[in-house]
Amino acid sequence: MNRNILVQNIRDYESRQWDVIVIGGGATGLGIALDAVTRGYKTLLLEQSDFAKGTSSRSTKLVHGGVRYLAQGDILLVTEALHERGLMLKNAPHLTANQKFVIPVYTYWDVFLYTVGLKFYDLLAGRLSMGKSYFINRDKALEMLPLLKPDGLKGGIVYHDGQFDDSRMAVSLAVACVKNGGTVLNYFRVNTLLKDGKGKITGVQARDIESGTEYKIHGKLVINATGVFADEIHRMDDPSSRQTIRPSQGVHVVLDNSFLQSSSAIMIPKTDDGRVLFAIPWYGKVVVGTTDTPLDTVTLEPTALDEEIDFILRTAGKYLIKPPGREDVKCIFAGLRPLAANPDNPEATKEVSRRHKITLSSSGLLSIIGGKWTSYRRMAEETIDKAIKAGIIEKKKCVTGDFSFYSNNNHLRSDHLKIYGNQAAEIEEMTAEQPALGELIDQRLPYSRAEIIWICGNEMPRTLEDMMARRTRSLFLDARASRDAAPEVAGIMADELGFSQEWKTKQIADYNRLTRNYI
Ligand SMILES: Cc1cc2nc3c(=O)[nH]c(=O)nc-3n(C[C@H](O)[C@H](O)[C@H](O)COP(=O)(O)OP(=O)(O)OC[C@H]3O[C@@H](n4cnc5c(N)ncnc54)[C@H](O)[C@@H]3O)c2cc1C
Repeated sequence: MNRNILVQNIRDYESRQWDVIVIGGGATGLGIALDAVTRGYKTLLLEQSDFAKGTSSRSTKLVHGGVRYLAQGDILLVTEALHERGLMLKNAPHLTANQKFVIPVYTYWDVFLYTVGLKFYDLLAGRLSMGKSYFINRDKALEMLPLLKPDGLKGGIVYHDGQFDDSRMAVSLAVACVKNGGTVLNYFRVNTLLKDGKGKITGVQARDIESGTEYKIHGKLVINATGVFADEIHRMDDPSSRQTIRPSQGVHVVLDNSFLQSSSAIMIPKTDDGRVLFAIPWYGKVVVGTTDTPLDTVTLEPTALDEEIDFILRTAGKYLIKPPGREDVKCIFAGLRPLAANPDNPEATKEVSRRHKITLSSSGLLSIIGGKWTSYRRMAEETIDKAIKAGIIEKKKCVTGDFSFYSNNNHLRSDHLKIYGNQAAEIEEMTAEQPALGELIDQRLPYSRAEIIWICGNEMPRTLEDMMARRTRSLFLDARASRDAAPEVAGIMADELGFSQEWKTKQIADYNRLTRNYI
């Protein structure tokens, strides 16, 4: 993951044609790039910011079929996602976990409804089931969730789903692409689609944001995997194209684990206003969310609305003995769902589907919108299959169903370094040689100096934010602590990556500004 070498690949290929060019480095684009490169296509992915800077670092962090989609009767979506859940837990065990959830129930009708519903959920998971669901009585429910309010509680339904680290999964995908011969670049923005005399797409014009250099890059297939930004690329293809995305904002707050004091998560299937609310243990904290607010504009750095934060805290307070207040919040983060709109009625939120849609324009632009992190692998397979069917690229078989991000020969750790998979030992060796590198960047965060150095050498962070938000999850776990650690981390990064004192000063100032959006 050396950016200079990867940029050189583009120069070396200037007079030749890539097989596949992917625009967008979130879950969807990175999944497609890995699918393409492992099938044997010459593959390039361009991301305008950092990998997973968009929605893909701002999810609820669930690898799930979606209990709520089951309630909506979307059996196909749930079945597909449950299958993918199983594959993701098998293929990326270092970044995923089997998470126990409890649905607290307050009426005997709900006991019946959720027991039956979750049995069906288990059934749909088939042989990739993560454990059976079952009813627990009131005492057992309070034992599992000691800080759940006991008033009116009849019991709980326990079920299993997957949990993961979204942005580290994205980085793992990027690293795997490069290891398999692909070229993936962050801070590389596509500005124009190149076309031939007949109006067929022949490549992209893209700008290296770091150097300012523009490149004309030619390819057989161009894929638009830009999430909520997909309509911008559609308009590059056809300025009169219709709206296909209906963005919807989801907000989460991160609290100290003292509000939950449990390794089990809480799932409230229907809050007062009919939403789903999760409180999920994550890296020693609790992630609580989410909301669903339709928006008209899209941005890479969405801001949570006060009413969204208040709604989450108020609702959590209805179920928890210790109600959280604004002062207890460690981080607030907002993400935009790239929901596929009904093109005949883009404002109709009820018709918005959670399933992905793949379209091929008359000029040959292949676009994929919507979907879920959990289903990224299947979405990628379907996208490349569609290009093969359309005769754009030659037929090659998908191999990602068995693509392991983690060598089974290695013992899977249970400590903090588990997230580095096979390479955790390299970090241990660094701290064994120089114990000072084992010191934490801040006592409130789990990351050591050695990890920062290792990440610089292996995962292509280009800014302080890349390191704090997406390589480590410092920003998401405790935004204030991450701001306090910023000068030290920026110093280590400058030394490791050869950046100047000016770079360091600017990064710290930029990061201070950014954290205000998360506090
Ligand atoms: C609040 C919330 C909670 C969610 N929770 C879950 C969950 O728990 N589990 C789950 O399975 N799914 C979840 N999802 C859904 C999941 O996160 C998304 O479906 C997924 O992350 C979308 O990925 P993407 O790659 O399509 O979009 P993005 O991650 O937004 O990536 C698109 C990328 O394209 C880049 N781009 C745009 N224009 C250009 C250009 N011109 N040149 C180069 N690059 C460009 C952007 O910078 C961006 O990084 C959640 C979504 C939200 C909003």
